[in-house]
Amino acid sequence: MIQVRSVSKTFHLPHEVKALVDVSCRVGAAEVVVIIGPSGSGKSTLLRCLNRLEYADVGNILIDGVDILDERTDINQVRTEVGMVFQSFNLFPHKSVEDNLILAQRVVRKRSKADCMKKAHMLLEKVGIKDKARVFPAQLSGGQQQRVAIARALAMDPKVMLFDEPTSALDPEMVGEVLDVMKALAKDGMTMVVVSHEMGFAREVADRVIFMDQGAIVEEGAPNRIFDRAQNPRTQSFLSQIL
Ligand code: ATP
Ligand code: MG
Repeated sequence: MIQVRSVSKTFHLPHEVKALVDVSCRVGAAEVVVIIGPSGSGKSTLLRCLNRLEYADVGNILIDGVDILDERTDINQVRTEVGMVFQSFNLFPHKSVEDNLILAQRVVRKRSKADCMKKAHMLLEKVGIKDKARVFPAQLSGGQQQRVAIARALAMDPKVMLFDEPTSALDPEMVGEVLDVMKALAKDGMTMVVVSHEMGFAREVADRVIFMDQGAIVEEGAPNRIFDRAQNPRTQSFLSQIL
């Protein structure tokens, strides 16, 4: 589903940072991959390269066989297929929950109003907030806003969902409800790449864990392999700090 081949990305301002250094990885259909690693290790940059929010300097990124770095590729098409959920929920504040879920369906997927509404309500039910369709984002808790953000991304029927620390801005009591939605999504067979330090989630849901440090993939493997038997000293040291 996703193939990353020898991707590098350097930022030049304010000073030169090699954010990604020769990164290669694959994510199969219906696979859930969790990326962990210290701050500044390139996790967000890698995720953002996968829908071209950042443009990789070198290498290839194939999503479902389409080379997204090829200039002939319609990037809007790619972004429709690759949903993304951020730490900050990024909902449209002046639109109701329902309208947040309808807008891109109308504009990008060109669905009828009735179809958009149907989809919006089905997804709100799925993320457990069907009674909130008419309220505005500010009237929701952080956990509810994040569930709307997930529903909004799902409304595009993406082939892949990317999550960048989706629970780290939430109060602790709201983390579980968002992780539960993500677990259900994984169970439904969604292909997911998740940057998260929620180790319980990674253990339970991830097919594979990738540890990044200094812009490179240092080690990857099944959750048990990484959490209980990490081989690389940098992985061991990172895990000893967070576990
Ligand atoms: P965190 O856990 O703190 O979110 P991260 O692993 O997601 O960290 P990235 O955000 O990918 O790390 O950043 C990798 C490196 O690239 C960092 O040194 C960061 O300062 C730098 N960087 C990221 N985005 C930019 C940008 N737009 N311009 C300049 N430097 C950037
Ligand atoms: Mg980040």
